[in-house]
Amino acid sequence: QAKEKGRNQVQLFESGMNIRAVNLMKISGELHQALEKNQMELHYQPQFRLSDGKLIGVEALVRWNKPGAGLIYPGDFIPLAEQTGMILPLGQWILTTACRQLQRWLADGLGPLRMAINLSARQFRQPGLAQDIARLLGELKLDPRSIELEITESMLMEEMEMAVATMTSLNRLGVKLAIDDFGTGYSSLAYLKRFPIHRLKIDKSFIKDLARQAEDRAIVGSIITLAHSMKIAVIAEGIEDEYQLQQLSRQACDEGQGYLLARPMPVAEIEQLLRQDFHHPALGS
Ligand code: C2E
Ligand code: MG
Ligand code: MG
Ligand code: MG
Repeated sequence: QAKEKGRNQVQLFESGMNIRAVNLMKISGELHQALEKNQMELHYQPQFRLSDGKLIGVEALVRWNKPGAGLIYPGDFIPLAEQTGMILPLGQWILTTACRQLQRWLADGLGPLRMAINLSARQFRQPGLAQDIARLLGELKLDPRSIELEITESMLMEEMEMAVATMTSLNRLGVKLAIDDFGTGYSSLAYLKRFPIHRLKIDKSFIKDLARQAEDRAIVGSIITLAHSMKIAVIAEGIEDEYQLQQLSRQACDEGQGYLLARPMPVAEIEQLLRQDFHHPALGS
């Protein structure tokens, strides 16, 4: 009886696994098709210097324009792409597309401009990442210093030696490195000195309650002070209101990004801002 029950459970478990595997295969195929059919798009969200409001960079954010389904946001397919391995060709497409776009803008005189590109965990662990990027930048004759790669704390903390090696080779290339969603992971500020990092992106969860939470103001203030003492620049993400903006300016945060300032937008829209050397009216004196 018990044996019988056990066997059924095993079968259930296995068929559950199969459903999951089949689903992942299906999604993997769909993502593959999406890439081949040019259904992936990059949108660009402006990054502003808080002292004078100058638009000095953009972050590339991927969207899947799936026929009949509209725009699908990365939260709904990046984790699946990561699980199926499709993140590698997708990540390659993102890197190439963002770098080509920047190259075109710079050739059109729309620079100087920095292009921030998110790397996935698998991409970051992929051997040869630095060589691939070096080759791409060489082909495009793009100044590596205009590229900023965003990685998360968890990517640094697991297999730390490999992470340090990868970051060192990327740093030698001349590309910049930013820690995304900073403050949500397990890294301590003390670790930062081990890594060649140019920028911290304070996670939006700390920005959200800046008005109401004295603790969040203190955390943000300490991150900024410590980063600056290590010659690391700071950008705040998720700025949604005037209060947050004022508070961050007062705390000497270098840059900001968020819906209050500008949303992620398609190429044609961001080009309008770049053409007019846009400075945000809410900033500067
Ligand atoms: P992230 O890199 O931290 O990107 C910031 C996310 O916050 C973006 O969401 C952006 O649209 C959103 N955001 C910007 N301003 C505000 C604001 O004021 N308030 C709020 N609530 N949100 C704001 P998105 O585009 O949905 O991307 C979500 C995440 O997906 C990204 O977080 C990143 O981890 C991942 N992702 C996006 N594009 C790529 C990519 O090209 N490659 C990889 N590997 N991951 C990507
Ligand atoms: Mg990011
Ligand atoms: Mg982030
Ligand atoms: Mg995030």
